[in-house]
Amino acid sequence: MSPLQTPHATRVLEDDLLARTPSRLYVDGRWREASDGMILQVEDPATGTTLATVANASVQDARDAMDAASRAQSSWAKTPARTRADLLLAAHQTVLARAEEFALLISLEMGKPLDQARGEVTYGADFLRWYAEEAVRISGRWSDSPDGRSRLITMKQPVGPTFMITPWNFPLAMGTRKLGPALAAGCTAIVKPAPQTPLTMLALAAVLEEVGVPRGVVNVLPTDRAENVAGVVIGDPRLRKLSFTGSTRVGQQLVRDSADGLLRLSMELGGNAPFLVFADADLDRAVEGAMIAKMRNMGQACTAANRFLVHHDVASDFGSMLAERMTAERMGRGTDPDVTVGPLVDERARIKVGELVREATSRGARLTTGGHAVAGPGYFFAPTVVQGVPADARILSEEIFGPVAPIVEFGDDDQAIALANGTPYGLVAYAYTADVDRVVRVSEDLEFGMVGVNQGIVSTAAAPFGGVKQSGFGREGGPEGIEEYLALKYVGLAV
Ligand code: NAD
Repeated sequence: MSPLQTPHATRVLEDDLLARTPSRLYVDGRWREASDGMILQVEDPATGTTLATVANASVQDARDAMDAASRAQSSWAKTPARTRADLLLAAHQTVLARAEEFALLISLEMGKPLDQARGEVTYGADFLRWYAEEAVRISGRWSDSPDGRSRLITMKQPVGPTFMITPWNFPLAMGTRKLGPALAAGCTAIVKPAPQTPLTMLALAAVLEEVGVPRGVVNVLPTDRAENVAGVVIGDPRLRKLSFTGSTRVGQQLVRDSADGLLRLSMELGGNAPFLVFADADLDRAVEGAMIAKMRNMGQACTAANRFLVHHDVASDFGSMLAERMTAERMGRGTDPDVTVGPLVDERARIKVGELVREATSRGARLTTGGHAVAGPGYFFAPTVVQGVPADARILSEEIFGPVAPIVEFGDDDQAIALANGTPYGLVAYAYTADVDRVVRVSEDLEFGMVGVNQGIVSTAAAPFGGVKQSGFGREGGPEGIEEYLALKYVGLAV
């Protein structure tokens, strides 16, 4: 649907929400313009028009945020865990009470269909609840030294002020996955959301302020001057931790930049997920899972299935069933209730997806459906299936980040595992099979941080999300997630 066709009532609702959403920086409990007055524009990827203008943080704003986070650290660390937990719970309830508004905001600035945005709100809010529950269970240990002359006490304390850099693809959840455990552990935070999607994080900051999170504990700096702003924060000796979600290339640079400060690091980086379909798989279930693993966020997820590795006995059936489902998808602006596929984030992303498809087809891959950009406003790309993709095609080694499913055939389990592991990335793998022995073997042999067996989604606040190899290190979610924000101290006590 073009913007002209968007119903008037919907436009009024959107305009009202955008007018109420904060558009300034949040530093030391105050909303303010950038110190040098710069702004950045937030675009609607479905139309290419400007949705809002937002203050664009400068290096001076970064210094101020660092001062605030540092000042607030000690009293936040000493705030009783139950109080920190109650604030997180209140934030969880407030986000859910405004779920429709958050979903609309996410859909507007990021482009995903409203239903998926609602899913992100539930998922994202869940990290606030989960870590409210974990905050009061941070514990240590008491033991005797072997010679009996002292007591060995271990305790866990907040790491200290944390810098969080988040991507545009899940504007709420990528923030709460970090803020939930950090606040629960007693760390203060500076959040730098992606410049494409700052509105959702600003709306979350307003919720945190409203429920009573003390000033300076959370600071939010939207900026398109990421390198300079990050340089100031990372170079500040008071910073103790950096948590980054984004591309492997930027992650590697940030690891290098953090070396002097010897920062604690969490790196949630890129992926190249294999989706294995064995000959004994229930094909209907596999196609259902494939649609989720591929089409969530229009393929713009680090967990997106990037390579479909299918046993050659079922590859043709799987390919045509998947193509049928892909063809039935409805493309349009995410805020239209019937839409199942929104636009890509920008033109650069769309050009890259088109190039990867062209390179594969020019080398013999066959298009079963889609394969082209969609004319008109916005950055739409048709849902696509390509079969018979040559093993060395770029589309199999690079993150596609678009609604394109390349299918590669395999002959036996060893070949499937070798193909799946044949990537520098190691975030998530999916496998469909009915054989329990194979489930065990495959789960153990896949070199990935997460494996989805007979399911196309693994993300939940209750499980440790994270990768190995070039997909990074550190875990978000589960009881493990809070450890990223805790430092271990040992006290030896003579008796
Ligand atoms: P990106 O690396 O370009 O940007 C991520 C964030 O880093 C943004 O906020 C950006 O402004 C900031 N940034 C960019 N250059 C920087 C610099 N020099 N210094 C400091 N900050 C800088 O990634 P993206 O395009 O926004 O996101 C897509 C990528 O994120 C994909 O590779 C995807 O796989 C990955 N991702 C990973 C996970 C995960 O949990 N593993 C989750 C979502 C996305």
